[in-house]
This record gives sequence, C-alpha cells and structure tokens, in this order.
Amino acid sequence: MKKYDYLIVGAGLFGSIFAHEAAKRGKKCLVIEKRDHIGGNCYTKNIEGINVHKYGAHIFHTSNKVVWDYIQQFAEFNRFTNSPVARYKDELYSLPFNMLTFNKMWGVITPQEAEAKIKEQIAQENITEPQNLEEQAISLVGRDIYEKLIKGYTEKQWGRKCTELPAFIIKRLPVRYTYDNNYFYDTYQGIPIGGYTGIFERMLEGIEVKLGVDFFAEREMYESLAEKIVFTGMIDEYFGYQFGKLEYRSLKFENQLLEQSNYQGNAVVNYTDGNVPFTRIIEHKHFEFGTQEKTYITREYSKEYAEGDEPYYPINDERNNELYAKYKVLADAKSNVIFGGRLAQYKYFDMHNIIAEVLFCVEKELN
Ligand code: FAD
Repeated sequence: MKKYDYLIVGAGLFGSIFAHEAAKRGKKCLVIEKRDHIGGNCYTKNIEGINVHKYGAHIFHTSNKVVWDYIQQFAEFNRFTNSPVARYKDELYSLPFNMLTFNKMWGVITPQEAEAKIKEQIAQENITEPQNLEEQAISLVGRDIYEKLIKGYTEKQWGRKCTELPAFIIKRLPVRYTYDNNYFYDTYQGIPIGGYTGIFERMLEGIEVKLGVDFFAEREMYESLAEKIVFTGMIDEYFGYQFGKLEYRSLKFENQLLEQSNYQGNAVVNYTDGNVPFTRIIEHKHFEFGTQEKTYITREYSKEYAEGDEPYYPINDERNNELYAKYKVLADAKSNVIFGGRLAQYKYFDMHNIIAEVLFCVEKELN
C-alpha cells in the first residue's frame, strides 16, 4: 500500500484540477511543482495592488458552458473583453480587423466600401496559389493590411521572414465588416477578479503541495510514493529524450513599474512594425480596470528556445509531430501514468481546452 493514490507533477491548470477532483473523491494526493509558486503559466503576482500576469497575458474565454460553470466555482470573473490595439509606427489600429481598422487605413465609411477596397487589393496581386505566408496573407486581406498589421508582427513571432514561412500557418484571417472589436468569438470571457492565483489556491485547498521540487531530481523516490502519477511536465524529458528533443518557441518578458497611472490606455498593444524588437506591451492593470497610482507594464519578445528557457509554444511541424508520436506510443503503454496538459501532450491549449481535457480525464479515471 503506497502513501498516496496520486502523485501529481505540476501545479498548473491540469495538475491542480485533477488534484482537486481526486481529493474531492477521497483520494490522497501529493502535488509537486518545480517553480516556487502554484498556477503554472496562469500565475499572477500582486505587485503594488496590480495582478501581474507573470507568464504572459491570460484572458479566459470559452463557448463551453460546462467549462465556464466549472471555473466560476473558483472565482468571480469581470467583464473584460479583449480588444487589442495595433501600433504601426505612430499609427494606431483597432484589432481584430474591423470597420474601425478599415476607416483608419483607407478612410472608407461603409461596410460595402471596405469590402470593395479589400477585394480590389486582393485582385491587384493576382495570387492564385500562395507559395508562402506572405502570399497567403495578401491573398486573404490585401497588401496594405499585410504590410502594416501582419508582416512585422509575424516575422518577430516566428523569427523568420514571411516569405520563408509556409502558407498553411495562416488558414484564415477574420475580417469583420462591423464595429465589433472583441478579439474572441466566444460566448463567455473575462478575467478572474483578484487574479488567477486565487483560483489555484482554492483548487488546492487541503491538498499537500510541495513547491520548488523537480520530479526528475528524485524521480525514483517520488515514483515509489504513489499508486499512480499524473505527469504534466515535458514528455520528452520523462522518457530521457531517447528519441531526441521536442522544439518550442520561447518568450522574454521585460517588466517595468512606472510612476504614472496610465501608460497606454489598453491592456494589450501589439507592435506590428518590424523595427520595434518586441511584439507587444501588456499593461496589466487594464485587465481589471485598475485605478492604482502606478502602473506595471511588460514588453514581450518572441525568441528561439534555448536550454534553460521556458518552453512556451510547441512547434507542431512535421519533425516534432513525428517525434511526439514516438513518445506518445511509450506514454500509452504506461498504465500507471497519466500524461496531461500542454507539455505532456505537446500541444498548445487555451485554458478552456485544458479544463475540458482534464474533466474528460477525471471522468475516465475517477468516475
Ligand atoms: P502549465 O501551466 O505549464 O503547468 C505545468 C506545471 O508543471 C508548471 O507549473 C511547471 O513548472 C510544472 N512542471 C513541469 N515539469 C515539472 C517537473 N519536472 N517537476 C515539477 N513540476 C514540473 N490560455 C487562454 O485561455 N487565454 C490566454 O490568453 C492565454 N494566454 C497565454 C499566453 C502565453 C504566453 C502562454 C504561454 C499561454 C497562454 N495560454 C492562454 C495558455 C495557458 O497558459 C495554458 O492553457 C495552461 O497554462 C496550461 O496548463 P498546464 O497545466 O497544461 O501547463
């Protein structure tokens, strides 16, 4: 008889919900987390009364009522709607592309004029089979929008020229002939009042959590403690990188506390000019309509992943997907380990996707 029913590696969204649901059903759980805090990438830290999204801006959105109802038990959400602004040199544009964007770009007034302008721009280029991301984007929205709002941002994000990126990266570019500048199409959206970390504190209440513990540092000891493991770390690391390393894109954050109450007037401003090195600036207080005297901003840079960096975005190209498939075969053969979450499943998941995933997993495992 082992001491715990479940050892949960990682106190992010997947691990914390699993632990919460297992504990609710009388299972004894131990959560270990290598960082010095819970919450994974959703973690927020209160600095000068402002809830700072330490691993990048997190906006909760979903159309799944079950997921929305589920998360509501851990926090009340505010009415925040993501309406980013794009800055190209000294011009400001509304995102996603909508009537405000088109009016600023060309002075057009009606939806018909905007549609005609975009069609005219697309026709001018005469691209029938886009050979790369640049041609794909131009064939969808025309040259002006591409040059000012897509090119520089995308090149910074990927660290490569748009002409060297495959066309399939952009399948469609939403164009709205309305004044709706809500970035998401989902039914429900908001930011948890008081920040995300409180959600995790409530989920993990009464559950044993050890922070600053890397599973791999004392793997055998931790494995011996529990009947089953829920592993939310990197799948290739779990299997000793035996087939090679999976690749990621990483981010660099540059933070600044400013002695002014309002820096940019919006939570998210994208810098779409290729000459500005960062991709966007987040002003955290605007996620919660903050009125503090100071403000806290984060410049976000996209970067190549190197040893020691945070693995933020999986690069799901052919090479990596094939590699992951090999690890997945090994993972499926391990009946006493559940591999869950963005690192173990090597897939980008929004928070609502993770909640759906873990609830499905709980249903299979615990009901
Ligand atoms: P994580 O949050 O990464 O949790 C995994 C945990 O496991 C981490 O805390 C890690 O430290 C720990 N761990 C790993 N290895 C070990 C080990 N060996 N030993 C011990 N602990 C270990 N989603 C949205 O819905 N809206 C957004 O606006 C949004 N913005 C995002 C912005 C950025 C920059 C990023 C990167 C993601 C964003 N997401 C957003 C996605 C969101 O962060 C994820 O859906 C969610 O965090 C995934 O939870 P997880 O538990 O799978 O992974």
